[in-house]
Amino acid sequence: MAPTSFQGPSRGDKAKRMENSQSVQSNVASPTYSTVENLLQNKGNAVFTISPSDTLHDAVKVLKEKRIGALLVTNDAGKLVGILSERDVVRKLADTPGQTLPQSVDENMTRNVQPCHEGDSLDSVLKRMTEGRFRHMPVLQNDNIIGMITIGDVVHYRINELEHETLQLKQMVVG
Ligand code: AMP
Repeated sequence: MAPTSFQGPSRGDKAKRMENSQSVQSNVASPTYSTVENLLQNKGNAVFTISPSDTLHDAVKVLKEKRIGALLVTNDAGKLVGILSERDVVRKLADTPGQTLPQSVDENMTRNVQPCHEGDSLDSVLKRMTEGRFRHMPVLQNDNIIGMITIGDVVHYRINELEHETLQLKQMVVG
C-alpha cells in the first residue's frame, strides 16, 4: 500500500515535468571542436628542421639537444621534403649496425609526409596519427611550414580541455 503522503501521478504531470526540465543538450556545454590552430596558440610555432644532405649523426645530435622525437626535412627553398623520426634511426641501427650514423638523412627519411592544417580538428588529427601509426605532424599553410604537433601535444591539450568541461558540469550540478 502506498504511504499516505504518496500522490499518484495525475494527467498533465508528465507534460509539466518536460516543461520545467532542461534538455540534456542545454545542460551540457556545447561540444568542443578544438583545432590545430588552438593548439598552436598554446604551443607556439617553433619547428626544427634538417637538410636532406645532412647525416644521421647530425640528426641525432639535434634530436638529443632539442629533446624532440622528429625533424622536418626541408630543401634549400625551405619546402618540406620529408620527415625523419627517432624510429627511422633506430630501425636503421638494427639493419646496418656500426654503419648507420654516416648515412644521409635523404636515404632514411619518410618522403610521403602527411601534414595537417590550422582548421583541422584535434580529434581528426589524433585519428590520422593513430591510424597511420606516427606521432608527428607538420602544420602547413599554403605549403609553408607553420608548426609541428605531436600526439603528446594533442592528448595533453584534450585532457586539459576535458578536465575543464568536467569542472563546468560539476559546477552546474552543484549550482
Ligand atoms: P613517429 O611515430 O612519428 O616517430 O614516426 C613513425 C614513422 O612514421 C617514421 O618512419 C616516420 O618517418 C614516419 N612519420 C612520422 N610522422 C609522419 C607524418 N606526419 N607523415 C608520414 N610519416 C610520418
